[in-house]
Amino acid sequence: MKTTNIAIDGPAGAGKSSIAKAISSELGFIYVDTGALYRTVALYAQEHDLNTDEALIKSLDDIEIDLNFIGGTQRITLCDEDVTDDIRTPEISMGASRVSAIKEVRDFLFDLQKKMAREHNVIMDGRDIGTVVLPDADLKIFLTASADERASRRYLEMQEKSDCPTFEEIKADIIKRDYNDSHRAVAPLKKADDAVLIDTTDMGFHEVCEEILDLIKERLDIEV
Ligand code: C5P
Repeated sequence: MKTTNIAIDGPAGAGKSSIAKAISSELGFIYVDTGALYRTVALYAQEHDLNTDEALIKSLDDIEIDLNFIGGTQRITLCDEDVTDDIRTPEISMGASRVSAIKEVRDFLFDLQKKMAREHNVIMDGRDIGTVVLPDADLKIFLTASADERASRRYLEMQEKSDCPTFEEIKADIIKRDYNDSHRAVAPLKKADDAVLIDTTDMGFHEVCEEILDLIKERLDIEV
């Protein structure tokens, strides 16, 4: 049976994951967060001191990554250890940006992403889902917002953590990652020609969800 696939791409902090989570639970789809895959490779590189591209490429065969969905929520394991929470640090965000520019790393993670989309109805978010991973997705969204707005959302989210970076640090980090992600040679962050652009700078969370649900109703043959 053909599955339904929705791709959401966009820069860091555009709200992809919270929007994708809400919409997938509304539709009964699985939400696949592909950034977690790159973060997990970055964690492996950090734990094994693999500081050069060559060293990481040589070790790729030793990296076992699995995705599991518990109550619709993605959990990720690295060599059988649950690392879902360990990959959410600023160092790993930067590390993910570094390892994601390596072609061999992208090829290594490609099959797992394709398999998820083949086997399940998915909303998959990332940077190259509409352009490279699921070029035939049933609906493609490119979600963005100004760097200030994205940084302030991230800052609010992170404020509960004891080691929360400052607003300026978060903004600098986001700008640097956007630059890396959109200037790399392989699968750079960019809007697919047939993706719908949604700029959420002045939009509330529910407004964005409504707009995407309307697009789903209009374009896909599924009940919402
Ligand atoms: O989405 P998230 O911020 O967790 O992604 C972390 C990093 O992983 C991004 O900055 C990007 O470098 C990389 N990434 C990617 N392609 C994807 C998803 C994430 O290159 N599909």
